Amino acid sequence: MTIQKPFWETKTLGEMTDAEWESLCDGCGRCCLYILHNEESGDVFETDVACKLFDAKKRRCTDYGNRSTRVPDCVRLTPDNAKALSWMPKTCAYRRLANGKNLPDWHPLITGDPKSVERAGVAVPPDLIPEGEIDDDLLESRITKAR
Ligand code: SF4
Ligand code: SF4
Repeated sequence: MTIQKPFWETKTLGEMTDAEWESLCDGCGRCCLYILHNEESGDVFETDVACKLFDAKKRRCTDYGNRSTRVPDCVRLTPDNAKALSWMPKTCAYRRLANGKNLPDWHPLITGDPKSVERAGVAVPPDLIPEGEIDDDLLESRITKAR
């Protein structure tokens, strides 16, 4: 009997179909949080402040199709830039695969259950602060963890 390997183990990011590419996103929502960079150390810190288009309860962008127009800072992940985006969460499937790692065992493509992201403690909480409700000067006080 031959065991067929899953697409993320046999294809490069650039070889994946659009559906395969989209299915890699675990829906954690952490790329929609404000982050702060320490320019001297290179460290990246995550806050509990979310992009204005982010629905924290559903963990979804509310205008995904127009995100680049409405939020020019929103980075569009591609097979070419996934490796270079070192500020993305270490758990992010795109970052992991671009850096030669496999998917974590809690990933929905492995568990078959989207809720496994929450159980693994990777998903953002629903009580985020929407941008616009906090001054930029106070962002530092909203740091939750190093990324
Ligand atoms: S960090 Fe990665 S896996 Fe999580 S929502 Fe963003 S693109 Fe998807
Ligand atoms: S525009 Fe949408 S996808 Fe981009 S950071 Fe904001 S909520 Fe996330």
